[in-house]
Amino acid sequence: MNDRYPFVNTPLPYPFDALEPCIDARTMELHHDRHLQAYIDNLNALLAAHPPLQNWTLERLVRGWQGLPPPLREPVRRNAGGVYNHRFYFDGLCGNCTLSETGRMAQQTAAARFGGMAEFESRIREAGLSVFGSGYAWLVLDHCRLEIVTTANQDTPLHPGIRPILNVDVWEHAYYLKHQNRRADYLADWLQVINWDRVGERMWECARRAEG
Ligand code: MN
Repeated sequence: MNDRYPFVNTPLPYPFDALEPCIDARTMELHHDRHLQAYIDNLNALLAAHPPLQNWTLERLVRGWQGLPPPLREPVRRNAGGVYNHRFYFDGLCGNCTLSETGRMAQQTAAARFGGMAEFESRIREAGLSVFGSGYAWLVLDHCRLEIVTTANQDTPLHPGIRPILNVDVWEHAYYLKHQNRRADYLADWLQVINWDRVGERMWECARRAEG
């Protein structure tokens, strides 16, 4: 699981160039090996100095930073959030995805909720464009109803009753090498490499938890 200290930057489940031409290999390499690595290194250094937090899971750190002593709050918020958000983003992508029944059902669920796949795509693209500065757009299940939300910086939508289903990183480092300032073009390309099977798995996990 690798979900607690010491965190390890596990390799991507696909090659850096798997998302070409939508997202270029160099961007993926820098994003994973430098940006995510930095968040992992920072988080590990922070927890090395605070042993009581070393058995906290990543999700507990992300949810619980506000209850920590004041000097720890912002560093944990930023770095645990940075690890969580990036892992979630990379895990939600694939190149030349084969779509199974799970993925097809996830697409149908999103389309039904937003009035068609084109409408879903338009809504999440607009959400990504609406982030001022750095952050993420998310598809979430809010008490098992699909909603589109945004977060700033490395904040997460992990609030009570809300489960993240899909996110897109709109920090400039996620697209600047290929798309420069054209965030809209990046978002259009990102829509082509969504791992809908993973989206479906995340949806059913929420449904199972709600039943349990
Ligand atoms: Mn990023």
